[in-house]
Amino acid sequence: MSEQSEQQTREPFRIVAFSRRSGFSEGLSAIASTRQYADFQEFAEHSEPGAQLAFVVDLESLPEPLDLIRTIRRHPQWRMQLVWTRGDAGAEIRALADGAFEAVENPSERALTSSARLESAHGGQPFRSQDDVLLAMLWSHSHMSLQPVRDWTAPELYRYPLLDVLLEDDTSEFWLRGLKQRRLVEGQDLVDRVRLCPGCRHGHLSFVDVCPECDSLDIRTEPGLHCFSCGHVGPQRLFQDNGMLSCPNCHATLRHIGEDYDRPLENHVCGSCQHMFMDGRVLARCMACGQAHDPDALEPLGIYRYRLSEAGRLVARTGDVGDLYGVFDDINYVSPEHFEFFCDWSLKLRQRHDEIRFGLILLHLNGLARVIDTLGHGPGAALVDSLAERVKALVRATDLVTRTADDRIWLLLPQTSATGVDVLAGRLSQLLEDSVDGTPLDRLGHVYHESSMGMSEAEDAAAVMARLVSRSQ
Ligand SMILES: [Zn+2]
Ligand SMILES: [Zn+2]
Ligand SMILES: [Zn+2]
Repeated sequence: MSEQSEQQTREPFRIVAFSRRSGFSEGLSAIASTRQYADFQEFAEHSEPGAQLAFVVDLESLPEPLDLIRTIRRHPQWRMQLVWTRGDAGAEIRALADGAFEAVENPSERALTSSARLESAHGGQPFRSQDDVLLAMLWSHSHMSLQPVRDWTAPELYRYPLLDVLLEDDTSEFWLRGLKQRRLVEGQDLVDRVRLCPGCRHGHLSFVDVCPECDSLDIRTEPGLHCFSCGHVGPQRLFQDNGMLSCPNCHATLRHIGEDYDRPLENHVCGSCQHMFMDGRVLARCMACGQAHDPDALEPLGIYRYRLSEAGRLVARTGDVGDLYGVFDDINYVSPEHFEFFCDWSLKLRQRHDEIRFGLILLHLNGLARVIDTLGHGPGAALVDSLAERVKALVRATDLVTRTADDRIWLLLPQTSATGVDVLAGRLSQLLEDSVDGTPLDRLGHVYHESSMGMSEAEDAAAVMARLVSRSQ
């Protein structure tokens, strides 16, 4: 049977069972044709490339089921396959696998959905980065999320096992921070909140009470006395003088409690400076870098279970579309630094010469990912190409173009009146609408613009550009 006709037969996928119990796979063969292996090595020797598989791991009979599941998730060929488990799964296994096999209502349907999503993931392009792999995995495994696992050896006290196995560079803490900053993932449930050392972002902290006067650790509880004649407060033992009580500060003899002295509320004494106090100062000492911090200065960090955000799902399906914007780099392109420099220069020139007018236009192509998602990568790229050609026709030889943060394209229009900027911005906006004509989408992006007439004396280029960016968000 050829590979193609095999895929079209009744059995859409095969099950690979890992177990050391004889007959483990028998119960599974009603669902799909099943092969049983004792370990990954044995499977790897017999596996056929290109086969559509789902794994079922018998947690009870294998010596190191976690290692096996990690091996699958790290394996470039098999990591995207479904991994179901049978038996008691610990937190770490649950974070890496697709859940208990018993809980899956329709395994073959689930396997089909997953492989269909996987095929279309990343716009059908090969994965180039750890982000591509992770996003495609979360997208094609509908029941998977980034699950934190408590771990006292982890810098932030929690770890994400899925990030750990897929990690290629950075550390997983950095990776997760990047995913959050780019809003590719979003918190689903808050699991815990930890506090980190602001110096090194470790969560291993030791809290100690110290003397509020001299920060000494040597503090203890001791009865104290309060002298009425001078107000001195100190440990009782320093008032004792040959069976009498006298104040070590003013030397007054203290005879009657309530008249000459009383017991103060302060009952802690510092062994170094003898200061008496009610509550010690609390310091958080970092066991990683040794710094001591006020507890209020620690950085709180919410530990969440994360799932793909709307933006993350879009990137998972279409792939990173940043490279498509490169076609705009043909149009009078200058680097963002030079662009800002020329913009600053024009602003300064305007202060000396009243007749100087210029304009700034921001094209925000935020609809591109959706275009790729709707039309596919090839037609989407062609659409961007033809848009770039039409923008080129509108831009004068003296206008400057730059590109920041992938989907933002900037135009600097020297010697252009406020009306001139309005007109060009209007044409570009029309272009963004026309370019998606005949598709179900309404526009490819938005245009924001400003004439130098509206910029204040005090502003520099960075401030003006930041203002346009904030309008585009
Ligand atoms: Zn002290
Ligand atoms: Zn006194
Ligand atoms: Zn530290």
